[in-house]
Amino acid sequence: MNSNQDNAIITVSGLTRKFNGLIAVDSISFNVSKGEIFAFLGPNGAGKSTTIKMLTTLLEPTAGAITMNGNDPRKNKDAVRKSFGIVFQDPSLDDDLTAIENMQYHAVLYQVPKNVKDKRIEELLKFVELWERRKDLVKTFSGGMKRRLEVARGLLHHPRILFLDEPTLGLDPQTRNHIWSYIKEINQKEQMTVFFTTHYMEEAEKVAHRVAVIDRGKIIAIGSPDELKAQTKTESLEDAFLNLTGHKIREEEVTGLDIMRAHTRMWRH
Ligand code: ADP
Repeated sequence: MNSNQDNAIITVSGLTRKFNGLIAVDSISFNVSKGEIFAFLGPNGAGKSTTIKMLTTLLEPTAGAITMNGNDPRKNKDAVRKSFGIVFQDPSLDDDLTAIENMQYHAVLYQVPKNVKDKRIEELLKFVELWERRKDLVKTFSGGMKRRLEVARGLLHHPRILFLDEPTLGLDPQTRNHIWSYIKEINQKEQMTVFFTTHYMEEAEKVAHRVAVIDRGKIIAIGSPDELKAQTKTESLEDAFLNLTGHKIREEEVTGLDIMRAHTRMWRH
């Protein structure tokens, strides 16, 4: 898939964010095409979260321009917010509500029309195989079930773009494959664009149409996994990443806190 400007759903040009003296994001430019699965990869502190926050209206850029589904987040915040769904790294479900109550609450927040709401909730809970468990409290769910529910919730208002920040962190390989199979299916069925971060390089290599590598606030490479491997004369995306940044993503990304969270999730299993 190419990054043809006419087909772009996200365009970013000269995007910059400074925090006092620090340049967290340093004049980056890229496009994401409609229906593309786009991976945004970089070592810890590279500027990934800051970029995602600017794209999703949570943070004002210092300079540069963004278009999200035809809108400028600075001028049309509401339209931009309706155009995307987001699954954050930290679970944001209400543990004391049931699966279906979490979905209904989100539907109200996003003003999903009453006449389509129940049908869409049923369709999505069936899609992530949680319909049978819809009346159970979320606190009884495993880590993988919670993540599936978050994906379903992120899709409730028919977003054109889905942001996923480390969607599979701390999950076992089988559950990770499961999550990606839902995401790939919805990407194909609804032509939904997916923008994600991960430190599992083999996942990015398998699912991403294109990858951008960001390091110290700058995009240092962009292309399909095959293009990045050819450019660096390496055999895997993990080696391409190492060649480009001089770091292994896992050592950089997995902090003590992440490991603790992953263990807590397994414990709840
Ligand atoms: P990543 O998501 O790739 O780990 P971030 O976007 O979180 O990186 O951070 C990029 C840089 O900006 C880091 O040096 C980080 O310390 C700094 N940074 C991020 N948010 C803030 C903030 N609110 N105030 C000051 N510095 C920040």
